[in-house]
Amino acid sequence: MNHQIPYGKQHITDDDIKAVSEVLKSDFLTQGPKVAEFENAFAEYIGVKYAVAVANGTAALHLCAMALDVKQGDNVITTPITFAASANCIRYCDGNVYFADIDKDSFLIDINKIEELINSKPEGFFKGIIPVDFAGNALNLEQFKKLANKHNLWIIEDACHAPGGYFLDSKGKKQNCGNGNFADLAIFSFHPVKHIATGEGGMITTNNKELYEKLLLLRTHGITKNPTLLSENHGGWYYEMQELGYNYRLTDIQAVLGVSQLKRANENLERRKEIAKRYDSALSNSKLQIPSSKFQIRNPKSTEGHAFHLYVIQVENRLELYNYLREKGIFAQVHYIPVHLQPYYKQLGWKKGDFPVAENYYEHCLSIPMYHSLSDSEQDYVIETLLAF
Ligand SMILES: *Cc1c(COP(=O)(O)O)cnc(C)c1O
Repeated sequence: MNHQIPYGKQHITDDDIKAVSEVLKSDFLTQGPKVAEFENAFAEYIGVKYAVAVANGTAALHLCAMALDVKQGDNVITTPITFAASANCIRYCDGNVYFADIDKDSFLIDINKIEELINSKPEGFFKGIIPVDFAGNALNLEQFKKLANKHNLWIIEDACHAPGGYFLDSKGKKQNCGNGNFADLAIFSFHPVKHIATGEGGMITTNNKELYEKLLLLRTHGITKNPTLLSENHGGWYYEMQELGYNYRLTDIQAVLGVSQLKRANENLERRKEIAKRYDSALSNSKLQIPSSKFQIRNPKSTEGHAFHLYVIQVENRLELYNYLREKGIFAQVHYIPVHLQPYYKQLGWKKGDFPVAENYYEHCLSIPMYHSLSDSEQDYVIETLLAF
């Protein structure tokens, strides 16, 4: 290959470019009609009542924590194997982050470890859980909801890796990631490495009207012009800032790119699944451990709803393989350095040895190229190079 192959990247078509240019020539660059159009289309895609577009996935997490009224001293549980933002949103609101270790086969937060953690503290100690559909592998949120109900906890599903992903509930019904049937709120990101790219961008989904209205207010400074919500009204110009919100809005330039990208979401997801299958069969007899073989032993259907944001292999000599691939123009990546081992979280008291499954996973994991525009010949080159190693 005479070009570099990253682990993930966006795919922009002529239709995308045309859609964006039309907005650039229109009256609204922001706060125009494209944001609502994107929200409606996304809500329909996921199968959820409400969607709120925001500046990025991190802003989405922050607004969720605010809407759920996280405050100083509130304790919240998340996974150590995620992007730091899943935990940081609680710190933005002065809450405390607790971690529960991951399951060694699925790499998802281990619900048994969450239950142990909850039971090790007085009832009422924890306020909520932020589970992550890591790599695109859909969590069984029905089980999380049961646990959450038992202990009066809210759930924010971090579904950044899993638009289009789903799990099968106890009745065998498909439950899309972020559909709000089991979580209070869910969030998505439209960073270029994710399934749908808008440059920067994020979305919050929910079926809860009250939370939805709060999010709309918080997204735009806590300001409303809605006559039914105003405490006074001095005329057409009048607005009130009723809460301390932020400017976390998405622009129409980004929203229209989202609308255009969303039209290809199903097709792209199928392509990701195809790429995963090709990796599965090419690598299953190698020394590299592929992600799905282990799930299939437990439940043949459990990878069916996998959205394959990442394809994570496990390898003994990871650093060597990482460097070898780079020399050959393949830019694999590590997802993730455990959040509790980041210096910021270490100074809050977390340390090496706290979550051994996550730490062992980190020692061996490597995300190899996985994005819908990866060509067969590029993938063949990646496979050849991996096998040569
Ligand atoms: C990308 C990502 C985020 C943050 O999204 P941004 O849009 O980059 O702010 C949060 N959580 C997870 C799991 C992510 O992958």
